Amino acid sequence: SDNLQYVSDSIRVVPGFPKKGIMFQDITTLTRNPKAFKLCIEAFVERYKDQKIDVIAGVEARGFIFGPPLALALGVGFVPLRKPGKLPGETIGAEYQLEYGTDRIEMTVESITNGQNVLIIDDLVATGGTLGAAVQLVEKVGAKVHEAACVIELPELQGRAKLKATNVPLFVLLEKE
Ligand code: IMP
Repeated sequence: SDNLQYVSDSIRVVPGFPKKGIMFQDITTLTRNPKAFKLCIEAFVERYKDQKIDVIAGVEARGFIFGPPLALALGVGFVPLRKPGKLPGETIGAEYQLEYGTDRIEMTVESITNGQNVLIIDDLVATGGTLGAAVQLVEKVGAKVHEAACVIELPELQGRAKLKATNVPLFVLLEKE
């Protein structure tokens, strides 16, 4: 649609950041454009308003930008899935593979409860490793992951196939090269 094209055009691509060979999708040019940011959140609201979402779980760091406005619009809570060591109290973690080594995200145990219908959100899906770990975390506490949502998918990196193994649907607003 014209609206999604406008959102897409608002995202700056930065070659060589954070290292050589990467074409970085910079969503800060989207969020600083109020029309683009509004259209982006409205597209998510349109999809999820009647889906009985109980809570939105956002992945650090850019899931913290798109998750809260959507949570407010839907009238549900927002739960942060964070880098290790950031959350107080009892946490659970899930590890995932990076190109070199592993990374980990954590969640406060009682922040999501058994049986809740959870929407996971992040800015971008590349290999799907991050979203896969997010799904694991939410499922560990007995909740159901309704869907994983991102602004951008990089289809070449096959994240969709990886997520398919978890049986969680993936919804994206934009596909980028
Ligand atoms: P994945 O785990 O390989 O799917 O990578 C997705 C994660 O890396 C997300 O948390 C993104 O925020 C981040 N990421 C990877 N590439 C980009 C990019 O081009 N722009 C912004 N974030 C990116």
